[in-house]
Amino acid sequence: MAEKLKAGIVGATGMVGQRYVSLLADHPWFQVVTVAASERSAGKTYADAVAARWAMTSPVPPGIGKLVVKDASRVEEVAGGVDFIFCAVDMPKEDTRCLEDRYAKAETPVVSNNSAHRWTTDVPMMLPEVNPDHLGIIDAQRRRLGVKRGFITVKPNCSIQSYVPALHALREFGIDKVFVCTYQAISGAGKTFKDWPDMVDNVIPFIGGEEEKSEKEPLKVWGAAQADGIVNASSPAITSQCIRVPVTDGHMAAVFVSFEKKPSVETIIERWKGFEGKPQKLALPSAPRPFLTYFTEDNRPQTRLDRDAGGGRAAGMGITIGRLRDDRLLDYRFVCLSHNTIRGAAGGSVLTAELLKSEGYLTAK
Ligand code: NAP
Repeated sequence: MAEKLKAGIVGATGMVGQRYVSLLADHPWFQVVTVAASERSAGKTYADAVAARWAMTSPVPPGIGKLVVKDASRVEEVAGGVDFIFCAVDMPKEDTRCLEDRYAKAETPVVSNNSAHRWTTDVPMMLPEVNPDHLGIIDAQRRRLGVKRGFITVKPNCSIQSYVPALHALREFGIDKVFVCTYQAISGAGKTFKDWPDMVDNVIPFIGGEEEKSEKEPLKVWGAAQADGIVNASSPAITSQCIRVPVTDGHMAAVFVSFEKKPSVETIIERWKGFEGKPQKLALPSAPRPFLTYFTEDNRPQTRLDRDAGGGRAAGMGITIGRLRDDRLLDYRFVCLSHNTIRGAAGGSVLTAELLKSEGYLTAK
């Protein structure tokens, strides 16, 4: 068997970082050899650094627990031992952008969860089933950075990762207008009920910056890869409201949509059931099968029952959809669900890294 690529996790002690650690514990292609975080954690073993805040259901994998956490700002030291890094840090945007640039310029690819580079036009914002062709822009990015093997990819905000896939399968009908309300889990804010007691038995109708991201980011994901960057799509028009609800994991979305050529209910369900992206065609290790699941029951998808859709290694990577019906103002309405810290964060990045490897962008140093 080919040797595994050596992966580093920068921000390994945080909520998303812990998810990376769990997902990569026995990954067939990648081995975590380096963990890094702030200078507060540097020098401790990983197990000690996360002891009081480990939020995953499985224990810290022993092989990773004994790694000594490095200081993420010592880029040469961290980059020196790895083929590429996953990055999920809680830092001011400009500092994150600068840190990610430093890794890319140290010839170390960065598969990022952070939002800092989402609007850099030659940085692809990947939803691997939707825009795999955007990886081609990496060549232009490398020219701009003056590097041979370094680059940065980002993932879109977790709020859009249920409804963009569901709508993507229907793009041939000309999506015209979209109204969406998202109902978002507390882990999306890096929190548990223990450290956010105000969320118990409560709903908060505001998530800073989320509505703007929910409306704009789909247009980059659906944009066209051109010589020097991604040119955003000009439609559909999207309007949103994003609401924090008292669930641990899983973002649900209620969607209202109109089309240029209205398809039938049967056709929509057929498109959802038959949709396969490149990750499915390539049988990537974290690709869910099916990618989209439609429920005929009126009371599905449900967060607790359905957020882990995808099966096996791809648990939490599948998107579930239900309640498709006519709408009185637009053409149709439906609901959809995705796991925010798996599909919407670490899992989505692991799938991106798998796609990058199979397309030849991630290699051993
Ligand atoms: P978090 O739980 O607060 O963890 C933050 C991580 O960043 C920790 O490892 C922390 O290290 C590290 N860090 C903080 N300051 C640093 C510095 N100056 N230098 C190096 N490392 C530093 O945050 P999170 O929820 O995992 O989110 C991380 C990123 O992913 C954010 O950009 C967030 O927007 C994004 N994201 C989160 C979600 C989600 O569902 N939570 C979803 C998508 C994207 P220490 O432990 O040493 O402080």
